[in-house]
Amino acid sequence: MPAQIIDGKAVARRIEDEVAGDITRLGFSPGLVAVRVGNDPASEIYVRNKAKKARELGLQGTELVFADSLSEAGLLDEVAKLNANNDVDGILVQLPLPKHIDARKVIDAIDPAKDVDGFHPVNVGRLHQGRDTLVPCTPAGVMRLIDSTGTKIEGAHAVVVGRSDIVGKPMGALLLQRNATVTIAHSRTSDLGAMTRQADILVAAVGRPILITGEMIKPGAVVIDVGMNRVDASFASRIAHDEEKSRLLAKNGTVLLGDVDFEHARRAASWITPVPGGVGPMTIAMLMKNTVTAAEWRRRR
Ligand code: NAP
Repeated sequence: MPAQIIDGKAVARRIEDEVAGDITRLGFSPGLVAVRVGNDPASEIYVRNKAKKARELGLQGTELVFADSLSEAGLLDEVAKLNANNDVDGILVQLPLPKHIDARKVIDAIDPAKDVDGFHPVNVGRLHQGRDTLVPCTPAGVMRLIDSTGTKIEGAHAVVVGRSDIVGKPMGALLLQRNATVTIAHSRTSDLGAMTRQADILVAAVGRPILITGEMIKPGAVVIDVGMNRVDASFASRIAHDEEKSRLLAKNGTVLLGDVDFEHARRAASWITPVPGGVGPMTIAMLMKNTVTAAEWRRRR
């Protein structure tokens, strides 16, 4: 039987309802500021969507946009102002930053209590110690997706492919906290298939289109595909077996693929996320949830 599809849009809507309920309970509207430097078109869309979604849900969502010429010291000053502003509960600085700005320095400068991306070393440390913290949005969203399937995480073998600070490492920490046995694979892993074939829960966060083939999936596995890879016509022969993706490629000239070969993997998996419509919608929803959590925790301190 083909896998059941995990509907990220539906799960994200449930989180958004939770956020709206949280705001009513709090009795005030938490403030989220999304900072962008320069004119990277993808960043422009991400930042606009984050601020817009915040406003839709009843948060105060603000976009703060600076020219590419803003210096590192200038950005650090802006972050200091946001840290000091009591109306601001959540600060996110959209990455990548222009080359002359050290992203680590900027992240380190954000008040950890307002670090709704969960990238500050204090929050990373707290996560790895299993303490309450602001958790990076994408892996937090993946946990919600896994939970939405009713899968028992405790005792399961979870394999995470990818070890980035943003997805892979926090993903491993969250699964470990829930008592999964965790393997983290990466570009130097010698036999990736041998690892993934052991996975009851497989999370692919690599950024390589259809790296994970159907034969690499353990029958009955829950498969979460974080990857987002836009490919062009040169990829046509590799996705010829996937009617829907081939149709979209022929129509638009490009198509969005995950790290997992969805069409083949769904024949082995029990649950699987599509790309798009799986992990993607969860990331913004969890950012909203983090902002409300930050607002609540800051007022409790
Ligand atoms: P990243 O920082 O580039 O990290 C990629 C990881 O994959 C690295 O740890 C790398 O290993 C590993 N890797 C590369 N090639 C591999 C291979 N052939 N076999 C096994 N592992 C390999 O990427 P990221 O920021 O984590 O993002 C990963 C993907 O998720 C991207 O497609 C990104 O667009 C997507 N993403 C989606 C969302 C969303 O909201 N849906 C959010 C964030 C990211 P090394 O460490 O050894 O180099």
